[in-house]
Amino acid sequence: MLSVEEAFDRIQSAFTPLEEESKPILDAIGQVLTSDVVSPLDLPPMPNSGMDGYAVLYNDVKDASENNRVELGIIATVPAGQVCNKIVTPGTAIRIMTGAPIPPGADLVIPFEETDEVERQTSQQKLEHISILSSLPQFANIRPSGEDVKTGQTILQAGTVVRAAEVGILASLGFSNVGVIRRPIVAILSTGDELESLGETLGAGHIYDSNSYSIAASVISAGGIPKILGIAQDNFHAIHAKLSLVSDSDLLITSAGVSKGDYDLVKDILTTQGDIDFWSVRMRPAKPLAFGRINESSTNSIPLLGLPGNPVSAMVAFEMFGRPAIRQMLGKSRLLRPMVQGVLTSPIYNTDQRRVYARVEVTRDKGIYYASPTGPQGSNILSSMSQANGLAICPEYINQKQAGDTVQILMTDWNEEVE
Ligand code: AMP
Ligand code: MG
Repeated sequence: MLSVEEAFDRIQSAFTPLEEESKPILDAIGQVLTSDVVSPLDLPPMPNSGMDGYAVLYNDVKDASENNRVELGIIATVPAGQVCNKIVTPGTAIRIMTGAPIPPGADLVIPFEETDEVERQTSQQKLEHISILSSLPQFANIRPSGEDVKTGQTILQAGTVVRAAEVGILASLGFSNVGVIRRPIVAILSTGDELESLGETLGAGHIYDSNSYSIAASVISAGGIPKILGIAQDNFHAIHAKLSLVSDSDLLITSAGVSKGDYDLVKDILTTQGDIDFWSVRMRPAKPLAFGRINESSTNSIPLLGLPGNPVSAMVAFEMFGRPAIRQMLGKSRLLRPMVQGVLTSPIYNTDQRRVYARVEVTRDKGIYYASPTGPQGSNILSSMSQANGLAICPEYINQKQAGDTVQILMTDWNEEVE
């Protein structure tokens, strides 16, 4: 049996980041920048006001106070988006709005609140004078050009993941497109004579194919593009026919047919069609696993990850091995989910020296995380997966983790309720 780490290392060594694509900035969320972003301009592009107020000379108002009001003549008003070329000279002020360029001469902006503007504005007349009621340090409320970003500065580095703030930065610099590592296309094939497609009536002894959908959903959350190939019966021709559909894919994920049942023919077929190893991984759920390359044609082979058929096993195996592979192809440096330490509220059992990943609901109370198993842990029980936001680990060399014991938890979802 392989340890989880051995299986992980063997699989991950087969993947590297994919090629670059150029994308509209909004479509690039979650993708990784392929090159440094160098600013073509200063941000802000010109000195501008940080407040609504009056652009003045510091020298005029440095001694101003409630009892020593300084009266200035208003020579202009400048809104954001306009440039005022009038010069602020001794005894004058220019009314200025937030974001408007600082007029020549001015070296301080006094906010409205520090003036008597409200008192004066009782009449409808246009204000001609203003009194300053307090002083501020020279250059206060003036945002210098290049304060945020300077021309030529590397503002985002290659390898950065595009999030909302990065989209904002790119837009503020005028970039409508950006170069990122493209998303992998992941073909998904379910195998099994018992499987029925959605929309069909269930025949006797049949079940709906849920793995195609849970895995496709997991691929989307991991940042990949799923391509559902549908169901292949457990026979050579069915599987062979589906292989003709994977030529544009970066990874093929199959489910079922990798365990030891009589009809697990997938194993034989895949072995003759490529170079695929079948492993037992020391974990529960998801012991049987396949990995290698499948020959899609005589000249092209693509990586294949064969997940076990049981619905929870398939999801957990994807979580441990498929998701990191997708993140590698996306060029992400962190491959694994965040882990937290928490206190178990009821026991987890380990019967055969495998590493147990128990479905738990993680909550937080007074700064401590608690992990509560969400119900029956059979590898076919998808409902207890649905209630879980984490997988609590019982190491392979321990028979049981008891209530009150500390466990490591892999956070499969980290929602606001937990944080
Ligand atoms: P197998 O690996 O073929 O032995 O399948 C193990 C179990 O998983 C069996 O109970 C299958 O019916 C079930 N199973 C296999 N494929 C799927 C699927 N695509 N959706 C739901 N259950 C499945
Ligand atoms: Mg089967």
